[in-house]
Amino acid sequence: MDEDCIFCKIFAGSIPSKKIYEDEDVIAFFDIKPMAKVHFLIVPKLHVPSLKECDASHQALLGKMLLLVPKLAEAQGLAGFKTLINTGREGGQEVFHLHIHVFGGGPAGS
Ligand code: 5GP
Ligand code: ZN
Repeated sequence: MDEDCIFCKIFAGSIPSKKIYEDEDVIAFFDIKPMAKVHFLIVPKLHVPSLKECDASHQALLGKMLLLVPKLAEAQGLAGFKTLINTGREGGQEVFHLHIHVFGGGPAGS
Protein backbone atom coordinates (compact mmCIF):
# COMPACT_ATOMS: atom_id res chain seq x y z
CA MET A 1 0.00 0.00 0.00
CA ASP A 2 1.36 3.37 -1.09
CA GLU A 3 -0.44 6.23 0.67
CA ASP A 4 -0.11 8.54 -2.37
CA CYS A 5 -1.18 6.00 -5.00
CA ILE A 6 -4.60 6.40 -6.66
CA PHE A 7 -5.00 2.67 -7.29
CA CYS A 8 -4.00 1.73 -3.72
CA LYS A 9 -6.66 4.24 -2.56
CA ILE A 10 -9.20 2.48 -4.80
CA PHE A 11 -8.47 -0.90 -3.11
CA ALA A 12 -8.65 0.74 0.30
CA GLY A 13 -12.09 2.12 -0.66
CA SER A 14 -11.14 5.77 -0.14
CA ILE A 15 -11.63 6.49 -3.88
CA PRO A 16 -14.76 4.97 -5.46
CA SER A 17 -14.58 2.86 -8.63
CA LYS A 18 -16.87 0.79 -10.84
CA LYS A 19 -15.45 -2.58 -9.89
CA ILE A 20 -16.01 -5.61 -12.15
CA TYR A 21 -13.81 -8.19 -10.38
CA GLU A 22 -11.90 -8.68 -7.13
CA ASP A 23 -10.00 -11.53 -5.49
CA GLU A 24 -7.19 -11.72 -2.91
CA ASP A 25 -4.52 -10.59 -5.41
CA VAL A 26 -6.19 -8.56 -8.12
CA ILE A 27 -8.92 -6.01 -8.76
CA ALA A 28 -10.48 -4.85 -12.04
CA PHE A 29 -12.52 -1.70 -12.59
CA PHE A 30 -13.66 0.55 -15.43
CA ASP A 31 -11.31 3.33 -16.47
CA ILE A 32 -12.56 6.77 -15.41
CA LYS A 33 -11.77 8.19 -18.91
CA PRO A 34 -12.74 5.33 -21.25
CA MET A 35 -10.97 5.22 -24.62
CA ALA A 36 -13.28 2.47 -25.91
CA LYS A 37 -16.91 1.44 -25.33
CA VAL A 38 -15.53 -1.07 -22.82
CA HIS A 39 -12.28 -0.02 -21.13
CA PHE A 40 -11.22 -1.58 -17.87
CA LEU A 41 -8.02 -1.97 -15.88
CA ILE A 42 -6.65 -5.12 -14.24
CA VAL A 43 -4.54 -4.12 -11.24
CA PRO A 44 -2.59 -6.17 -8.67
CA LYS A 45 -3.26 -5.32 -5.02
CA LEU A 46 0.50 -5.36 -4.47
CA HIS A 47 1.93 -1.89 -5.13
CA VAL A 48 4.45 -2.40 -7.96
CA PRO A 49 5.15 0.85 -9.86
CA SER A 50 5.42 -0.67 -13.34
CA LEU A 51 6.42 -3.71 -15.41
CA LYS A 52 10.04 -2.50 -15.17
CA GLU A 53 10.07 -3.24 -11.43
CA CYS A 54 8.76 -6.79 -11.89
CA ASP A 55 11.05 -9.79 -11.44
CA ALA A 56 10.71 -13.56 -11.06
CA SER A 57 8.87 -13.09 -7.75
CA HIS A 58 6.00 -11.49 -9.73
CA GLN A 59 5.77 -14.25 -12.34
CA ALA A 60 2.68 -15.97 -10.93
CA LEU A 61 0.90 -12.64 -10.35
CA LEU A 62 1.61 -11.46 -13.92
CA GLY A 63 0.38 -14.77 -15.31
CA LYS A 64 -2.78 -14.53 -13.23
CA MET A 65 -3.44 -10.98 -14.47
CA LEU A 66 -2.94 -11.96 -18.10
CA LEU A 67 -5.19 -15.02 -17.83
CA LEU A 68 -7.92 -12.83 -16.34
CA VAL A 69 -7.98 -10.65 -19.47
CA PRO A 70 -10.04 -13.01 -21.70
CA LYS A 71 -12.25 -14.10 -18.79
CA LEU A 72 -13.21 -10.54 -17.84
CA ALA A 73 -13.47 -9.47 -21.49
CA GLU A 74 -15.91 -12.30 -22.15
CA ALA A 75 -17.91 -11.34 -19.08
CA GLN A 76 -18.18 -7.83 -20.60
CA GLY A 77 -19.56 -9.34 -23.81
CA LEU A 78 -16.41 -8.78 -25.87
CA ALA A 79 -15.63 -11.28 -28.63
CA GLY A 80 -12.22 -9.64 -29.10
CA PHE A 81 -10.18 -7.03 -27.29
CA LYS A 82 -6.92 -5.07 -27.14
CA THR A 83 -4.52 -5.01 -24.20
CA LEU A 84 -1.97 -2.36 -23.25
CA ILE A 85 0.60 -1.97 -20.50
CA ASN A 86 2.09 1.54 -20.51
CA THR A 87 5.48 1.43 -18.82
CA GLY A 88 7.46 4.44 -17.65
CA ARG A 89 6.75 8.11 -18.33
CA GLU A 90 8.22 7.75 -21.84
CA GLY A 91 5.87 4.79 -22.34
CA GLY A 92 2.82 6.92 -21.59
CA GLN A 93 2.32 5.68 -18.03
CA GLU A 94 0.49 8.17 -15.80
CA VAL A 95 -0.42 6.05 -12.78
CA PHE A 96 2.67 4.38 -11.32
CA HIS A 97 0.99 1.23 -10.07
CA LEU A 98 1.21 -1.65 -12.56
CA HIS A 99 -1.97 -2.21 -14.58
CA ILE A 100 -3.21 -3.82 -17.78
CA HIS A 101 -5.65 -1.83 -19.94
CA VAL A 102 -8.31 -3.86 -21.76
CA PHE A 103 -10.25 -2.19 -24.61
CA GLY A 104 -13.13 -3.50 -26.70
CA GLY A 105 -16.41 -2.70 -28.40
CA GLY A 106 -15.02 0.07 -30.62
CA PRO A 107 -14.11 3.70 -29.86
CA ALA A 108 -15.85 5.45 -26.96
CA GLY A 109 -18.77 7.62 -28.06
CA SER A 110 -19.14 6.04 -31.53
P1 5GP B 1 -1.68 4.82 -17.66
O1 5GP B 1 -1.50 6.00 -18.58
O2 5GP B 1 -0.92 4.99 -16.36
O3 5GP B 1 -1.40 3.51 -18.33
O4 5GP B 1 -3.21 4.76 -17.36
C1 5GP B 1 -3.80 5.18 -16.17
C2 5GP B 1 -5.29 5.10 -16.39
O5 5GP B 1 -5.91 5.25 -15.13
C3 5GP B 1 -5.85 6.20 -17.31
O6 5GP B 1 -6.50 5.59 -18.41
C4 5GP B 1 -6.81 6.97 -16.41
O7 5GP B 1 -7.98 7.39 -17.08
C5 5GP B 1 -7.11 5.97 -15.31
N1 5GP B 1 -7.43 6.57 -14.02
C6 5GP B 1 -6.74 7.58 -13.40
N2 5GP B 1 -7.31 7.89 -12.23
C7 5GP B 1 -8.38 7.06 -12.09
C8 5GP B 1 -9.37 6.91 -11.07
O8 5GP B 1 -9.39 7.59 -10.04
N3 5GP B 1 -10.31 5.95 -11.28
C9 5GP B 1 -10.33 5.18 -12.41
N4 5GP B 1 -11.32 4.29 -12.50
N5 5GP B 1 -9.41 5.29 -13.39
C10 5GP B 1 -8.45 6.23 -13.23
ZN1 ZN C 1 -0.43 1.56 -5.54
